[in-house]
Amino acid sequence: MNEYDSNRIFDLTKKIKYEPTKDITEADCYILNTCHIREKATDKVYHDIGRLKKKFRNKPKPIVLIAGCVAQAEGNILLKNEKYIDAVLGPQSYHQINKTILKLEKKKSPINITEFDVIEKFDSLNSLKNTNNKVSSFLTIQEGCDKFCKFCVVPYTRGAEFSRSLEELVIEANQLVKNGAREINLLGQNVNAYNFEKSKFSDLILEISKIKDLKRIRYTTSHPRDFTDDLIDAHKNCEKLMPFIHLPVQSGSNKILEAMNRKHTVEEYLEILKKLIEVKPEVKFSSDFIIGYPGETNEDYKNTIKLIKKVGFINSYSFMFSPRPGTPAFDLARVDDGIAKNRLIEFQRIAEDIKNNYKKKLINKTVNVLFENEMKSGNRYFGRDEHFNSVIVESEDNLVGAIKKVKIINGNQNTLYGEIILNLGQTNYAA
Ligand code: SAM
Ligand code: SF4
Repeated sequence: MNEYDSNRIFDLTKKIKYEPTKDITEADCYILNTCHIREKATDKVYHDIGRLKKKFRNKPKPIVLIAGCVAQAEGNILLKNEKYIDAVLGPQSYHQINKTILKLEKKKSPINITEFDVIEKFDSLNSLKNTNNKVSSFLTIQEGCDKFCKFCVVPYTRGAEFSRSLEELVIEANQLVKNGAREINLLGQNVNAYNFEKSKFSDLILEISKIKDLKRIRYTTSHPRDFTDDLIDAHKNCEKLMPFIHLPVQSGSNKILEAMNRKHTVEEYLEILKKLIEVKPEVKFSSDFIIGYPGETNEDYKNTIKLIKKVGFINSYSFMFSPRPGTPAFDLARVDDGIAKNRLIEFQRIAEDIKNNYKKKLINKTVNVLFENEMKSGNRYFGRDEHFNSVIVESEDNLVGAIKKVKIINGNQNTLYGEIILNLGQTNYAA
């Protein structure tokens, strides 16, 4: 979501004649878009500012803005502790960025804008063309969260759930496809909680899938509680919807899920996967896990291991519990640090083994790859198969934006290497 936000910030600042630069030392304005989900986020801001100061030691100071969730959560502290920062802008206030920059061009005095103006933000952004021209583009459809998992800062930093209008989203999706997008990744902290007037998430997917040149639709991140039967039907009926779903479960223990206020059980989670496999047998899953949540016993942890083995997640993102100030879990008695670390190490080893075995089985198989970009080394193209696996092939032809059938020849845990399948004398074969 920060990548989408950063692109929109670029679109906004073009209006006041600012443009992105690859050379930081050339910058007149430096914007750091931040994430606050786990610890050390604020430390990272201070480190980055330290590095920036060094780069500008012999030059006039640029305007320095901190955007995103760290600005929302710790704006005043940042301004007080680091005088090099000129302004902090929360994630629902970045539509005010031009006004802020113009003010700071005239006079540098600290500015804090951290209201929750989400309606105003999207109103301003809707009037502005999305100029992102990536083959695979993000589109934020929903923001914020009303679920209040006890460990999570999102409801406090991004605010309450808000869904953009279906009409606006179809317009923006069309713009992205006109710019060259062939895949759209619909974004939201609770993307499948999307609900605008009478339109549900599945309605939006079906509407966007009508865009002719759009070949693939993905979404992230969905929540088990909002995984309704109409969304499962969309996976059955919409060919463009990719058979790969990131569905965070967090733990394999019902006791821990309840303590986290996740509002779903392991059995309910597995039931969703079962229904999805029934309608789309090739579907694969990835998930998020928090290891060492307060109260997690060895038995709870072992249940999480059981769950990853049972499902065979092709990707697992695991994090040690990180106590976030202001969340209800912050004050809970913690699992011993050493125990939690050992569990995380073991969990990640098992999750990697599952992933590696899955990747090995792909060797000599044929997959459909949407190519996103040419690699710096030249004549090599990067793309993703339907299950979001990274695939690299060599080609004399420009493959950007094309979907090709690729035979996987080799690979490691991160990348697969393949060859475009030759089709009866033709150089390559479009799927
Ligand atoms: N909305 C999504 C859901 O309900 O699962 C998750 C969004 S959250 C931005 C991304 C991931 O960060 C979570 O799934 C969780 O695993 C992890 N996370 C959030 N807060 C955390 C914390 N305090 N400690 C460790 N991991 C955390
Ligand atoms: Fe955070 Fe996701 Fe829970 Fe919302 S549903 S509080 S975003 S983990």
